[in-house]
Amino acid sequence: MNYDIIIIGGGPGGYSCALRAVQYGLRAALIEKDLLGGTCLNRGCIPTKTLLFAAGLLSSMKQGARFGVAADNVRPDYEALRARCAEVTGQLRNGLTKLLKQQKVDVYAGEGRVTAAGEVTVACADGTETVLTAGDIVLATGSVPAVPPIPGADLAGVYTSDTLLSDLPELSRLVIIGGGVIGTEFAEVYRALGAEVTVIEAMPRILPPMSADLARHLAADFRKKGVKVIAKASVTEIVRTDGGLAVRYTLADKPQEIAADGVLIATGRRAGVAGLTPFALKEDRRRVVVDEHCRTSEPHVYAIGDITAGFPQLAHTAEAQGKIAAAAVAGKASAIRLDLIPSVVYTRPEIASVGVSEEEAKASGAPYKVGRAMMGANAKSLIAGEAGYMKLIADGEGRLIGAEFQCEEASNLVSEATLAIAAGLTAETFASIVRPHPSVEEAMGETAEGLLSFEK
Ligand code: FAD
Repeated sequence: MNYDIIIIGGGPGGYSCALRAVQYGLRAALIEKDLLGGTCLNRGCIPTKTLLFAAGLLSSMKQGARFGVAADNVRPDYEALRARCAEVTGQLRNGLTKLLKQQKVDVYAGEGRVTAAGEVTVACADGTETVLTAGDIVLATGSVPAVPPIPGADLAGVYTSDTLLSDLPELSRLVIIGGGVIGTEFAEVYRALGAEVTVIEAMPRILPPMSADLARHLAADFRKKGVKVIAKASVTEIVRTDGGLAVRYTLADKPQEIAADGVLIATGRRAGVAGLTPFALKEDRRRVVVDEHCRTSEPHVYAIGDITAGFPQLAHTAEAQGKIAAAAVAGKASAIRLDLIPSVVYTRPEIASVGVSEEEAKASGAPYKVGRAMMGANAKSLIAGEAGYMKLIADGEGRLIGAEFQCEEASNLVSEATLAIAAGLTAETFASIVRPHPSVEEAMGETAEGLLSFEK
């Protein structure tokens, strides 16, 4: 079969690319070796957020008395939680499958491999091989959990995010190796479910990709909730003991040990295209280097999503890149801004940031200003029993360049900030918008006002 575009990998990058390609009138083939929706829908964003929602509900119900609601004997039901994750992911996957069919994307179930310029061979699930050809090929094969060579990492009871989500074991002591986004979200889930949770992080603080302020606030919240964080610690081995497992690590050169009945290894994701093409694509730290149109070093071969170098491994990055690659193949311009990608951690309260952080603004040496609001003074946050803070950063001319949030609805607020930054709004214009009361958004106006000087 001949197509205009063949996409290998049916995650958010791949399916967004295919759907946008057909909107441009291209004939598109999408190859997926496992489940449509990729990591995000099946083993990532969606099941974790389903669990985080349930965890939040459980915490709220346990605190019911504080809000005037009596709720006794509230507890997690693991069987029902597993069923709920399967229900949500199943419904979304069915919807996606129908949409791809409706939009006339040809979906091939099997493993795709580029076998020559413009040629992809699919090893189909039924053992047969199909050869497809196209003018352009998009690689969207995503990533898998990276497991460092820690002795004992293969013991029963040691999980990756994939296996923890598929098994959802009932645990009373969970040790999480890695305090990044995945590690901290699982810490939030399991703590709310009632486990003792310890996060071991090699770096000086958790959430290394986000600002030091956000990490400090999350660490303080974790302390209050009873999640133990051990930073600057290096795990040396995991061993089986009479009581379950023990994680051995060094802290300030001293050997230490902590008992667990489950260990999650959340030390990052491995992405690579080894063996996927006969070409030597230009790579940076095993991720594919692409230009602003997602073109690789090989003509007519594009790469998108978690496999690309220099971009945050997020579902919305992959989707944006998928649309950009489809536009490039169709010869159309795309206005999508890849330089402004919001990041969210779905802890409670949520954490989100976009654009330039305060540390980056300071390091740049250019003039900048910071406006802050503490959410304890925000009525809507107080009603929900949440606190936290938000911060807006403006350049020397008062133009907004960055924002960060640790508060209720941070995942929504960050979009308003992203829009303002993308539109080049000044703090003055941003503050001039009237926002509803009571709302968490109104704190955005107050924060922006903190960047203005008022004439007396
Ligand atoms: P993937 O989603 O990994 O999809 C790649 C697909 O390609 C897979 O389905 C795979 O089976 C298929 N494939 C691979 N090789 C081949 C081949 N040779 N032939 C055919 N098919 C192949 N991001 C967010 O934005 N928000 C979140 O809340 C969030 N939460 C996350 C939570 C967890 C626990 C994890 C692990 C990730 C989370 N992410 C989140 C990250 C997000 O899931 C990824 O960034 C996103 O899925 C990347 O999309 P992708 O299309 O590049 O790759």
